[in-house]
Amino acid sequence: MTPIRRLTGFASLDQPPDWPATPRCPKPRRLEAAVDSLPGVGRILKGRLAKLGVMTVRDLLEHRPRRYEAVAPEVKIAALGGDEEVVIAGEVVTVKSHRRGRLTVLTVRISDGSASVAATFFNQPWLKEQLAPGIRLRIRGRRGRFGFDVKAYDLDGSDKTANLAPVYPAGEELTPKKIRALVSAAMPHAHDYYDPLPAEVRAREQLPLKADALTVVHHPASMGEAELGRERLAFEELLSLQIGIARRAEERERTLAPSLGEAGELIDRYREVLPFALTPYQEQAIREIDADLARTAPMQRLLQGDVGSGKTVVALYALLRAVENGRQGALMAPTETLAEQHRMTIADICWELGVTCGLLTGTSTKRDRELALQSDIVVGTHALIQDGVELRNLAVAVVDEQHRFGVDQRRALKHGRAPHVLHMTATPIPRTLAVTFFGDLAVSEIAKPPPSRKPIITSWVTEERASEAYTRLARLLREGHQAYVVCPLIESSETILALAAEEEADRLQRSELRDFRIGCLHGRVRPAERRERMERFKEGKLDVLVATTVIEVGVDVPNATVMIVQEADRFGLAQLHQLRGRVGRGSDQAYCLLISRAKDDLTETAQRRLEALVATTDGFSLAEIDLDLRGGGAFLGTRQSGLSDLRFARIPFDQPVIDRARAVCAEISADPGPLQDEVDELFAGADIAA
Ligand code: ADP
Ligand code: MG
Repeated sequence: MTPIRRLTGFASLDQPPDWPATPRCPKPRRLEAAVDSLPGVGRILKGRLAKLGVMTVRDLLEHRPRRYEAVAPEVKIAALGGDEEVVIAGEVVTVKSHRRGRLTVLTVRISDGSASVAATFFNQPWLKEQLAPGIRLRIRGRRGRFGFDVKAYDLDGSDKTANLAPVYPAGEELTPKKIRALVSAAMPHAHDYYDPLPAEVRAREQLPLKADALTVVHHPASMGEAELGRERLAFEELLSLQIGIARRAEERERTLAPSLGEAGELIDRYREVLPFALTPYQEQAIREIDADLARTAPMQRLLQGDVGSGKTVVALYALLRAVENGRQGALMAPTETLAEQHRMTIADICWELGVTCGLLTGTSTKRDRELALQSDIVVGTHALIQDGVELRNLAVAVVDEQHRFGVDQRRALKHGRAPHVLHMTATPIPRTLAVTFFGDLAVSEIAKPPPSRKPIITSWVTEERASEAYTRLARLLREGHQAYVVCPLIESSETILALAAEEEADRLQRSELRDFRIGCLHGRVRPAERRERMERFKEGKLDVLVATTVIEVGVDVPNATVMIVQEADRFGLAQLHQLRGRVGRGSDQAYCLLISRAKDDLTETAQRRLEALVATTDGFSLAEIDLDLRGGGAFLGTRQSGLSDLRFARIPFDQPVIDRARAVCAEISADPGPLQDEVDELFAGADIAA
């Protein structure tokens, strides 16, 4: 199983219920075979495919085309010419294979009676076995330097691929054409799938067999056929998802949690020490949480709110509810920096309230650990739930940015206990998605930030004008603002990122920002040192923090009002929005300056991402735009959301399919038969993504 296939996300919040064993059909081994078991796939290609999340033959078969190319006119070979894309059909006359450098080139002469032409296939050595003289071949392509350049082809007299050539997501290192060839090579294995849908459901819903659905998705005779196949596969996914969610909800109702009654004196004092009044949205969330906490079934609530909307205040409320009942609260963050930051944020208030607050991370000493475990509120990373850590008195757990956690961690947190759990996320999830993926979770939403907040002013300049951005930054710094400079997101090791950040900090210190005090923050700074640098920044002893994306979530320094993001085009929309949320947390006007590479070097999507950020600061609108730019499956990024597991569903487009899946789920969730395997897989554990 490949990590990317697992649902790392929100669909897996609970312990897996004790589902009855169902008879399993053994998974055909050939489907699970690595891609390099296919002829012609070597180490390099394997690596490139892995970046797309394609590890096995099955992954290839489940790599969904994003669109299909329009039908091309069929012409006689004698009439070939021009630059237009056409289809030719004929019989194979000769097949020759040779190498050109690292390429394997297959030259196939085909004739249709009017004339013959040599068609070239690159790097598809397995074709040699399939193409013998006399075989009928239909090819889509155009006249090129080496005869006829093949874009897609069909054997055995079918006319599928050549007409509606599937276009696959291919990343930067592969072409859709290459993937098309690989999928074709994997195609015979489609019949190795067993069909997990109960036969009567399939009959009633008039759904094709899984193997047939896969075949028409990759090689459709018409667009209608392709869509029918996709819907069949989406239906299976969405049904599995609904079944898992339904089971989880039942399980929860059977679990006991401590009922916390009504809010008391500690909460009154909490409201008094807060330097502001809670917004109506925060009050509403709190009412909803209180109602959950009064029950004996564990709370499972998702607190959604854009960055800076004021979720932490609400989270602390929930934790204090545990404390005033003589129990413990735990706040779990995805990274050490974030855990420290949370601790710093709540420490003052806790101190004023006489509530103890400890920090427990992977690097805590034994003594610190023991102290932390005895505190009223324990803030920490996943170290909180590792072996040997006992939070015996835990009543409320808040999990921040929960989509970054593996399921096992959440499971361990609950092991043998049933605390109330509040999940916080700052990556707004459009309503349609929330209902589909959190069907069993109650959702509270902080739809608007505190009114004192001014929207962040965002501008975008290209590299050539970067110095203007720094001039502006220097001016704002002189006025007493503080700033973050975010270093480019380069795909490499933490160490290289760290080095790059250090170098950038040095460079800025010597050039544009020589008059200011600069600190540097990245994943390789030791925790004690990191705490100190954060503290100094917070106290205003540093003007600028040059950082990697370690500051992406949670860092809260209200006086930091300017952010520069270098090579902003390399970041995803959601990530940029998260980053930007680090500024504009106080009442001062905040600025975000996005610096991208030259316009000519940007993809259209990158430009649209940057334009969207300039146009709006509303996380929900941005989430919708992101959804639109990337499609439901890729929404929020693969690791984070786990939605990458839904390969065929198109959210929110598939609402009718979701509705059908819900109805069927109600009937069969008690005994889903072989579909249980699919459910298990969707809800299987995940790697630590923190
Ligand atoms: P989030 O966790 O949603 O990103 P925080 O809870 O960290 O947001 O709040 C962001 C900033 O807004 C913090 O500095 C916090 O003190 C402040 N804040 C929170 N609630 C209010 C409010 N009701 N009025 C004014 N400021 C608030
Ligand atoms: Mg926060």
